[in-house]
Amino acid sequence: MLDDFEKELAYCAYCPKLCRHVCPVGNAERRESVIPQAKMAMGHMARNGTVSLTEDYASVFFYCNGCGLCTEFCEHDIPVSEVLFEARAEAVARGVQPKTLQNFADRFYARNERLVRKLHGLVDEHYFVEEAQVAYMPGCDLIDDSPDDVQKTLDLFAAAGVDYVSIMESDLVCGGYPLWAAGYQSEFRHVAEEQARRLSGYRKVILACPACVYTIRHVYPKFGVNVTAEVVHVSEFLDTIAHRLPVKQTVQAAYYHDPCYLGRWLGVYEPPRRLAGLVTRKVLEFAHNREQADCCGGGGLVPDVAPQTASAIAERRLEEPNQAGVGVVVTACATCVKNLGRAGRDMEVLDIVSLLHRSLE
Ligand code: SF4
Ligand code: SF4
Repeated sequence: MLDDFEKELAYCAYCPKLCRHVCPVGNAERRESVIPQAKMAMGHMARNGTVSLTEDYASVFFYCNGCGLCTEFCEHDIPVSEVLFEARAEAVARGVQPKTLQNFADRFYARNERLVRKLHGLVDEHYFVEEAQVAYMPGCDLIDDSPDDVQKTLDLFAAAGVDYVSIMESDLVCGGYPLWAAGYQSEFRHVAEEQARRLSGYRKVILACPACVYTIRHVYPKFGVNVTAEVVHVSEFLDTIAHRLPVKQTVQAAYYHDPCYLGRWLGVYEPPRRLAGLVTRKVLEFAHNREQADCCGGGGLVPDVAPQTASAIAERRLEEPNQAGVGVVVTACATCVKNLGRAGRDMEVLDIVSLLHRSLE
């Protein structure tokens, strides 16, 4: 409920727009109504009844990547995207969400079913082991958009002598981040409860999707859902077995792009950089990196609501490697690979898993 964020909404509503310069959506749209302060002011007015939410007014809540950069620059640590995701739930409850997100839950479940089938077609059935203690969960964007990376990840585990990781046997391939981000909270809660039950059957689960690692670790508990398994990102796990990976340096130079949920939200900065350093002579840093890294534009369902904005954000992120004449960008998130890759044209954008796999001896 927006009432839970009364203080945060009021702080932003009366703020002299101190974080406006960092919002990727505001910068791409060049529209005052989608800077963080204005989106929060709309939430403030919706909460106190100054405006009654229409689809037009509510639309600004959906112009947020969930990147967290405004929070990083805020003296008061206001969690703007968390509040805006709550405002999205208010919009959904009143039936004024954007048209592209109507029936979103039905499409989420349909996509999930399709991806469960696709996953079983991607890898041999012997990777699904019922009694396994450690499982790998590739996540929806990896299965959908970078399907080869599923087998590549399993190959890396094998190359390091890790034979105890099974693919998570489940009829749910997603942790539910898209439902949370879309404001479909009752459906999200249901998926969280179901997924928690499945995850808790393992000791450790290795996920490829940073947004779902964040969602399971930090959003599930806010919905009263707890997972007993240790949930880690694949870059964190690979980092622990990297000394056993038979890889050689195959790339002269590559920029490393911090995915927002892996970096700012989970604080995982060094493991993917160390992995990239194993196979890349020079791992280059964007001017804005780590805590202050710019978003790729792919988060928060912005590609669904405003695809051109998502592309413009990605193009802006790639300006730096383009100008430096470096043709490789490596990251650790299938959503970033997808969104940057679409904007990349001559740029090769790839997941750390792909880069390591290519460099196996
Ligand atoms: S997040 Fe902080 S800096 Fe940004 S508008 Fe709100 S109060 Fe101001
Ligand atoms: S979380 Fe990112 S996209 Fe959302 S308002 Fe803040 S800076 Fe903008």
